[in-house]
Amino acid sequence: MSTHYNTLLEKVHELNDLQKAIALLHWDREAIMPKAGMAERVQQMTTLTRLAHRMGTSDEFGALIERAAEEVADSDDESTEKRLVAEVKWQYEQARKLSPELVKRRAEVTGKASGAWQEARAKADFALFEPYLEQTIDIARESAEQYGYDQQPYDALLNLFERGMTTDTVRKTFAAVSDATVPLLQAIVSDGKQIDDSVLHQAFAVESQKAVARTIATAVGYDFERGYLGTVVHPFATSFSRNDCRITSRWYPDFLNPGLFGTLHESGHAIYEQGTDAAFSRTPLARGTSSGIHESQSRLFENLIGRSYGFWQANYSALQAAFPAQLGSVTCDQFYLAINKVQPSFIRVEADELTYNLHIILRFELEIALLNGDLQAHDVPTAWNDKMQQLLGITPPSDAQGCLQDMHWSAAMFGYFPTYALGNLYAVQLYDAALAQLPALKSELEYGEIGGLFSWLHENVHRHGKKYTPDELVTRATGQSLTHEPFVAYVTKKFSQIYGL
Ligand code: ZN
Repeated sequence: MSTHYNTLLEKVHELNDLQKAIALLHWDREAIMPKAGMAERVQQMTTLTRLAHRMGTSDEFGALIERAAEEVADSDDESTEKRLVAEVKWQYEQARKLSPELVKRRAEVTGKASGAWQEARAKADFALFEPYLEQTIDIARESAEQYGYDQQPYDALLNLFERGMTTDTVRKTFAAVSDATVPLLQAIVSDGKQIDDSVLHQAFAVESQKAVARTIATAVGYDFERGYLGTVVHPFATSFSRNDCRITSRWYPDFLNPGLFGTLHESGHAIYEQGTDAAFSRTPLARGTSSGIHESQSRLFENLIGRSYGFWQANYSALQAAFPAQLGSVTCDQFYLAINKVQPSFIRVEADELTYNLHIILRFELEIALLNGDLQAHDVPTAWNDKMQQLLGITPPSDAQGCLQDMHWSAAMFGYFPTYALGNLYAVQLYDAALAQLPALKSELEYGEIGGLFSWLHENVHRHGKKYTPDELVTRATGQSLTHEPFVAYVTKKFSQIYGL
C-alpha cells in the first residue's frame, strides 16, 4: 500500500494505543484500584482523553485521511484498506460535528448529573434528579441537531450506536415484538402455575461460583489464555487487543444467576473481540460493528446457549460438583425450568428472556417523547409507571425501582437503550441462520456440542470486526436485514413448552 495510507495507519495505531490506555485505566479503576486513587485517576483519564481527542480531531489528521481516501478510492469496495479509511473518516467527522462549547458543557453537566442521580436513586427521590435530567435532555437534543439527521432527531443519536438504523424501523420492529410478547406474558401470568426457582436462591460460596463460572465460560469458548475474569460492581467486558479481552462479573452469596449468567454474557462480548481478524490489530476495525450486534453475541451465549436444555445436559454435572449440597438432588430438568422462569419485574438488568425487551420498549418510547418535547422531565415518573403497567402489568413501589434505575440518562446517553433489544433479535436471527445452514447443528446443540455454532459465528460475525455495517453483516450472514420474526418464534415455542401453554 502506498505512502499516505501507511502514514495514516501509523497515526491510527497511535490513537488506538491512547484509547486502549484509557480503557485500561478504566478497567483498573473498576476492578482493582483502591478507592483512594480516584481523584488522580480521573485526572489521568481526563488528560489522556484530551490528548486522544486533540489527535483525533486535528486538521492534520483530517488532511491525512483525505489523502489516504484518494489513494484507496479505486480499491475494491470491500477491501480492508477502504473500509478502514471510511471508518476513520466517519469517526473524525462525528468528533468534529459537536461544538467545543457543547462538548465542554456535556462533560460538566454529566459529571454533576451522575452524582445527583446516585443520590436520587439512593433516596428514591426523583425531584433531586429532575433539574439535571432537564439539562441532559437539552444536551441530547442539541447533539442531535449538530450531528444532523434526515427524518427525526432520535435518528442522529441511534446512529451513534447502531450505524444506519432508523427510529422508524425500531418503532415498527418493537411494535411487532410487544404485540407478540405481551399476550404470551399474560398467558403465563394468568395461568397461575409458576415455576419454583428457589434452588437458585441458596447459599453459594463466592469462590466456588468464580471457579464454576470459569469452567462454564471455557465451555462456551472464551479463551482464558487471552482473557481475564475480574470482579466489579457493574459488570462489563473490555479489550485492549484481540489477545487481551477481559470480562468482569459480580457474585451474590445467596443467588446463582448474576454471577453465572453475567459471566456468560460478558464472555459473549469478549469472544466477539477475541475473534476479530488479526489484520485489524490496533485499528478501529478490531471491535464489534455496533452496540446491537455486540449485544447479540452476549445474549446468544447467555441465553440461546446458556439457558438451553442441551447445554445444561452437557454441563450440569460440573455445576452440581461445585455445589453438591445445594444442587446434588436437583435434577437438570428442574434446574432448566428454574433458570427460565418468566415473571414481570421492575429492574431491567434482572429481567428474564421474555420480558427484557418490554423494559427497553418502555425506555425507547419515553426517550423519543422527551426528545420531541412531547414529554417533560417532570412527568417522567408518571409516564414510566403508566407504561410499565401497560406492558408488564406492574407498578414500581418507588422511582428507585422505576425511572431512576439506570445510569444512561444521567450520562446524556439517549439512543443507546434500543440496542439491548436489537441484540436479542439479532441473536436469534443469527442462530436460526446457523441452524438453517448447518444440517447437523440442531442435534449437536441438543447434546450441548457448540463447536459448530462457534465456528459459524466466528466465520460470519466475529472475524469481520467493524469492517461491515450492522445491516451488511446481518444480511451477509442471514440473507436479510433485521427481522423480529425469529425472536418471536423462538420465545413463543420455548415458553409455550416450558409453561405448557
Ligand atoms: Zn452486554
